[in-house]
Amino acid sequence: MKVFKFGGASLKNSQGFHNVASIIKEHSKEPLLVVVSAIGKTTNALERVVALAQAKKDYQSVLLEIHHQHKQIIIELKLEADTINQYLETIMHTIAIKAEAAGEYDFIYDQVVSQGEILSSALLFSFIQSKNFSVQWIDARNYIYTDETYREGKVNWSQAQASIKSLNEILQKKIIITQGFIGGSTHNTTTTLGREGSDFSAAIFATCLNAKSVTIWKDVPGVMSADPKRLKNAVVFDELPYQEAAEMTYYGASVIHPKTIKPLANANIPLWVKNFDDPSLPGTIIHDCKIDKLPPLIVFKDNQCLISCRVTDYSFVNEPQMNTIFEILSQRDVRVNVMQNSAISFSFCVDFREPKISLLIEALSKKFEVYYNTDLTLITVKNYDVATFHEYRTMPGVILEQSSRSTLQVLVKS
Ligand code: ASP
Ligand code: MG
Repeated sequence: MKVFKFGGASLKNSQGFHNVASIIKEHSKEPLLVVVSAIGKTTNALERVVALAQAKKDYQSVLLEIHHQHKQIIIELKLEADTINQYLETIMHTIAIKAEAAGEYDFIYDQVVSQGEILSSALLFSFIQSKNFSVQWIDARNYIYTDETYREGKVNWSQAQASIKSLNEILQKKIIITQGFIGGSTHNTTTTLGREGSDFSAAIFATCLNAKSVTIWKDVPGVMSADPKRLKNAVVFDELPYQEAAEMTYYGASVIHPKTIKPLANANIPLWVKNFDDPSLPGTIIHDCKIDKLPPLIVFKDNQCLISCRVTDYSFVNEPQMNTIFEILSQRDVRVNVMQNSAISFSFCVDFREPKISLLIEALSKKFEVYYNTDLTLITVKNYDVATFHEYRTMPGVILEQSSRSTLQVLVKS
């Protein structure tokens, strides 16, 4: 069997749905499980709904926008007579109720934001069914079990495996359509796996079903040496070793979610990245292979915050002090992207995610003199050559630089 994943960009309008349906049709001869993300920018919109509703502000216009976009697709796909039409209203109602509920923010967030995938998968299901395909919708929350770390659910692999395996029987007869990004806790609450987590969902289903391959359908021709929107001369890789792809995602390449590679590599399941606009393009295969010389690979990670902790008593930064910093980071579950120390300060760069980072700075300020800068971009050049090494080190606005034998990183003002 195979697993396909379609992201929000491939389902942003009715044309996208037609396109996805034709790709599914093309591959429907063998067992297929399809994982989908929310339509277009629905997840961002739902995040705004939660933020506004929890701040007791008006969120109706954002909700209407979501409603309008889905309704438009339903009309254009001629599904108005279908139950999906009523389902849309039900989900809109659910979103409003859940967004206004009292409770811990991250919990509320997951209950609301997950509805984007519930809707997109139901819509795709209705459309595929209207084309007389043998298809079944399943609720990923009954298969991808996680703990109760809301917004960052940790998968309970043994429980997930046990339930996902049971899908094999359905797959013999039907195409399965399900949601990416969302999971369920053992207490029957909805969790999410972290933003852009649908790729990871596809990897979880694939691993537990021992799939032949996973294909992530994207708006790019494959995995590229840089984001083509930023660098015109970016090239597409035909193939990449798992390790290389995993490192790219670690540095912030957004083509694949960082957690996707590991389970697939462990199970030796190849991961294809293919273009949904032109499925005839070869795409990139990430698998067990060796490549002698890869071109420089450039990753941009925006919205970075550089934090410097200075000791206040004229002593030098020592290990116990670094230990204090790392303990605070680890307690608050903040990942460091680059770090550097000098005689009297220890600096590190993190994703600027609020309110997490303000709280982190507050905690560090109790022990150190803390300085920070936001609006930074971390650029990583992996497998640099002479030209790229020079180019990125000398670019304007560099405030921190670090290099190893194979990798250069510069932090620049955005
Ligand atoms: N819809 C979710 C997000 O935008 C999950 C995903 O797209 O993978 O983060
Ligand atoms: Mg998305």
